[in-house]
Amino acid sequence: MTRLFGTNGIRGIVGKDMTADLAVGVGRAIGTFFGRGVVALARDTRLSGPMLARATAAGLMAVGCDIVDLGVVPTPAAQYYVAKLGGLKGAVVITASHNPREFNGIKAIDAGGMEMRREDEEAIEAIFFERRARPAEWSAVGDLRSDPSAIDRYMRGIVARVDADAIRKRALTVVVDPGNGAGCVVTPYLLSSLGCRVISLHGQGDGAFPGRNPEPVAENLSDLLRIVPEAHADLGVAHDGDADRAIFVDEAGDFVYGDKSLALLARAALRGRGGTVVTPVSTSRILDDVVREAGGEVVRTKVGAPIVARVMFESGAAFGGEENGGVIFPEHQFCRDGAMAVAKMLELIAHEGKPMSRLVAELPAYHLKKGSVHVPADRRDAVLAAIVRLSADRKVDAIDGIKIHAEDGSVLVRPSGTEPVFRIYAEARTAARAEALAKEGRDLIERALRA
Ligand code: MG
Repeated sequence: MTRLFGTNGIRGIVGKDMTADLAVGVGRAIGTFFGRGVVALARDTRLSGPMLARATAAGLMAVGCDIVDLGVVPTPAAQYYVAKLGGLKGAVVITASHNPREFNGIKAIDAGGMEMRREDEEAIEAIFFERRARPAEWSAVGDLRSDPSAIDRYMRGIVARVDADAIRKRALTVVVDPGNGAGCVVTPYLLSSLGCRVISLHGQGDGAFPGRNPEPVAENLSDLLRIVPEAHADLGVAHDGDADRAIFVDEAGDFVYGDKSLALLARAALRGRGGTVVTPVSTSRILDDVVREAGGEVVRTKVGAPIVARVMFESGAAFGGEENGGVIFPEHQFCRDGAMAVAKMLELIAHEGKPMSRLVAELPAYHLKKGSVHVPADRRDAVLAAIVRLSADRKVDAIDGIKIHAEDGSVLVRPSGTEPVFRIYAEARTAARAEALAKEGRDLIERALRA
């Protein structure tokens, strides 16, 4: 094993590959990389959070880092704390985000509040695998204190960056489903402070996740989809386990795909000023249409929120995000931010004076067809190379996997970062055409497997 970090930190099943021993070692490696100074520590609601947070903190303190423990907070609240307080070496967040309850993970945040660059992760991995962390002497071991102010700082930062008066005037009813995750400590309170009537669903932090699976996809949100229209609410919102993502449900109880909420929020962000929007190659072309109309430009990246955030930071982009409900508002901070996305969506509804379903219906209509094909991990690179050869006569881009552009749609095939599969994303103006493009992608992978 030469890698620890995946696309979003270190993840594993608790007691198997995510253990106290690993956390101590990773804490030591991250602390050695940071050097002596103050490191913020945060966690989501997972049952193993207290154990892994203390183990990671022990590793950090053993190499001389002082810990400021923020407790259970959304990942973006910890990032905001680091970015705005200044003077910290960074943060470590114990979370497995949207993964099922048996998982947990360790995520490292840099001094600017952003997720680590890949080269920094490699430096931490090298310290870990080469056992280069050296214990501090007795008088230089780090200490630990708590700071309960991260939630309040974060919420005040959000309220200051939206038109709170316009939202309060609308007195919207919102059903909030944080899924028993870290969003429980922020979003219901944030919405109350914005004058909303709030109905909380799965609103107690509980790492057994008794309400639902932490991933905010339609099949996990049946309670929310039912309750929004029953409660005559204006909107429903769901987070993943660490509340860096927000997914919406319209007033009729229809699931709003993340591509669509991203396009709505992009249009609002560009209004009257244009600018660049950064998104991975897998996001729907709805975004391109909307951004073009708003006088802006879309920049595509490889898949992964840390990459999107970094490109936004370096290029001075106006807005960015992913198709899974991860949205980045650079005037607030350079990371995905679930509660900020909710506040901005409320602002949009208040300003436009239209129900969510109307806003969604006014977007360009595309049909999306997703799928996947099993590809053994050891054949991944060869299969990708064969796909490149087989599609040589087509109009393609190769930012991440291969995206084939047709006259009336596109299909992207790319190896998953976490599973032994190639994912297929096809998109076209009609369902039949999207289906045909998805089949083309599937055939291409199968031919490459036989090559
Ligand atoms: Mg997350």
